[in-house]
Amino acid sequence: MIGITVLGATGSIGVSTLDVLARHSEQYRVIALTGNSQVERLHEQCLQHRPQYAVMANEAAAEQLQARLKISAPDVEVLAGAEALEKVASLTEVDYVMAAIVGAAGLRSSIAAAKAGKRVLLANKEALVMSGRIFMDAIRENGAELLPIDSEHNAIFQCMPSDLSHGLGKVGVRKVLLTASGGPFRETPLEMLQHVSPAQAVAHPNWSMGKKISVDSATMMNKGLEVIEACWLFNTDSSKIEVVLHPQSIIHSMVEYVDGSVLAQLGNPDMRTPIAHALAWPKRIESGVSSLDLIAVGNLEFQSVDFGRFPCLRLAFDAFQAGGSAPAILNAANEIAVAAFLEEEITFTDIPDVIEETLSALPSRDVDNLNTVLNDDKSARAVANDIILRRAS
Ligand code: NAD
Ligand code: MG
Repeated sequence: MIGITVLGATGSIGVSTLDVLARHSEQYRVIALTGNSQVERLHEQCLQHRPQYAVMANEAAAEQLQARLKISAPDVEVLAGAEALEKVASLTEVDYVMAAIVGAAGLRSSIAAAKAGKRVLLANKEALVMSGRIFMDAIRENGAELLPIDSEHNAIFQCMPSDLSHGLGKVGVRKVLLTASGGPFRETPLEMLQHVSPAQAVAHPNWSMGKKISVDSATMMNKGLEVIEACWLFNTDSSKIEVVLHPQSIIHSMVEYVDGSVLAQLGNPDMRTPIAHALAWPKRIESGVSSLDLIAVGNLEFQSVDFGRFPCLRLAFDAFQAGGSAPAILNAANEIAVAAFLEEEITFTDIPDVIEETLSALPSRDVDNLNTVLNDDKSARAVANDIILRRAS
């Protein structure tokens, strides 16, 4: 039996992960489930999957969960707080860790899993964006395995040779074609963008996801974070990454080789495919995803990206180029701006402005340890919050 911890079990990726695991309960044993504050959902998940540990990052929520489980499943040990996330990511009885907490909140536990030498199933792209070098070093130095869950990166992984330690050129890769749906506002008249509501922004045409990544998809910051994620995962600079709009989200990304071959991975837009792939790799298991009906899909379209419509994508390329802590600053400012947009404190088109102003207010620094990343994350949040307050007054 393979022991698994699901960090962020109550979220969109967490729920899809548990769906796949439930189909293979003879192979995988759930050791720990974690959530932030959704007591009801984590309680239900505990009853179904009977983990040894249930963690709530929020202490008050942990108390409520404890009170419920004391009666319904007293064998589940409830832990509280951010440190407990790191603990359940590193337990000896855990082989695999699904890192599916959203945002910088997942950084420490994702790195803890790498340091403990686990197979890390990485959905929490923000962790890699913030601390790419540190994260990749932790994987390598501790004999951990990194399997991408992000559908594009999982697709690229499936189309790549296994040894990338000498760079993409050495294995004949000419470029990576990172596909993007373009989100809900791909064709919205530009002058309307400042009036779009949070409800419109989170209504993704192809994928059902958490709110933060849905807004990121609408601004295309998600694709920007994914460019950075791809550079770290596949040991390349951003010049080899080309973003291609593909509105149907059927091709999840492609790899082009020097001989002109282009390999693609296709499938219905359902995260259970990359989750099942990463769980079983190098084998294959059923995921519950239905067969791809290409006749029903009919057409696969491709378009170039309009950087003017999606300034967040340019900001992400630039931050990666600047290096050091710039991607962490970009990520933190984005998290603050997206939260403010969801609270209707700023408009949709304010999001890139807040990020750009934050990046110009804070110089990027060399990153040699996690504290630098965490400090710059904190400073960027403060600066971004100030910018938002000033805009409101
Ligand atoms: P979500 O909002 O649905 O779930 C987030 C999870 O993180 C929840 O379990 C929540 O309880 C937990 N969480 C939030 N704040 C926390 C905190 N402070 N401490 C501890 N736990 C906390 O998000 P999601 O859509 O499942 O996305 C999760 C991650 O996966 C993100 O990094 C996202 O970019 C990535 N991802 C998601 C999808 C998708 O289809 N949903 C696809 C690709 C990548
Ligand atoms: Mg993705």
